[in-house]
Amino acid sequence: MAEGDAPMTRPSVPEAERLIGVKHPVLSHGFVVLVDYMGNDAAIVQAARVSYGPGTKTIRDDRGLIRYLLRHRHTTPFEMVEFKFLVRLPIYVARQWIRHRTASVNETSYRYSIAPDEFDLPPLESIRKQSARNRQGREEPVAPEVAERFRTDLERVTHDAYAAYLAALEAGVARETARTILPLAYYTQWYWKIDLWNLLHFLSLRLDAHSQEEIRVYAAELAKAVQAVCPIAYEAFDDFVLGSVSLSRKERIATRSLLAGNTPEKACADAGLPLSREDGKPMTTGEGVEFLAKLEGIRKPD
Ligand SMILES: Cc1cc2nc3c(=O)[nH]c(=O)nc-3n(C[C@H](O)[C@H](O)[C@H](O)COP(=O)(O)OP(=O)(O)OC[C@H]3O[C@@H](n4cnc5c(N)ncnc54)[C@H](O)[C@@H]3O)c2cc1C
Repeated sequence: MAEGDAPMTRPSVPEAERLIGVKHPVLSHGFVVLVDYMGNDAAIVQAARVSYGPGTKTIRDDRGLIRYLLRHRHTTPFEMVEFKFLVRLPIYVARQWIRHRTASVNETSYRYSIAPDEFDLPPLESIRKQSARNRQGREEPVAPEVAERFRTDLERVTHDAYAAYLAALEAGVARETARTILPLAYYTQWYWKIDLWNLLHFLSLRLDAHSQEEIRVYAAELAKAVQAVCPIAYEAFDDFVLGSVSLSRKERIATRSLLAGNTPEKACADAGLPLSREDGKPMTTGEGVEFLAKLEGIRKPD
């Protein structure tokens, strides 16, 4: 039977249906809700078979086909699946999130409505020292009194800002002007619609340890919805993207040296991957250090 001749029904995934409309809390006042979805694993296969023809069925089963498509970055069948979420998130997280340009967004406007008095107050354990290695990250805890002080300051400043916001509105200042006094810890809310391929791209960046922990917790909630709607595609993504390690040309040379029985340090030297600076001090960042970190990641069991 040719594609299109078979009767079609709207795909429905029981695990995903149970998620629709359910608020999953994130951070102090945020949430993620799956509002709707279109398609599932079968929609990816259906789209792929249009290009490969009905004969594909005999060559690969559905799981094998999805894994093949993802491995070989045959992207468009994954675009046939769509997700719509309602997300409530602090403005500082929204600023990172909105950089992903391949979604459709409709955001609450504080030109029209009044911002509720809800701001993100990080738990004490999230207030940690600036990372020495990663300029965008944090590392070990700060002293408890430093963390307490930061939380107290954040509460005081945001309460003062909110009081000034309300006073400005009361005095007749336009909402679009008054809102500029609110700090980034305040919450916003949006509908966010995206196709599976671009959502997987978002997840590959925002589940990664290099992303800020506050956006990672949102990404983890989105990932659960993807897993429910397309378990096979998510498994393939987990295997071939999240769980994979890529090697540069120099890293391949270093790996060859390792396979010949050399130490990681010798392998780095063979490949021209620097581990120490000109003054002999060990490097804390750079290609050599990143290669050793990749080896460490491979040694660590999943
Ligand atoms: C850990 C981390 C740190 C970051 N730090 C910073 C920072 O310090 N400063 C900063 O400004 N940003 C920063 N970003 C944001 C980052 O540079 C990207 O803007 C963001 O991750 C969105 O990625 P994207 O463009 O691939 O995604 P999307 O916008 O979703 O695009 C998906 C893909 O579509 C294609 N695409 C979309 N639009 C275009 C276009 N106009 N032209 C060509 N191709 C396009 C690209 O292939 C792109 O990868 C950071 C991101 C991460 C994850």
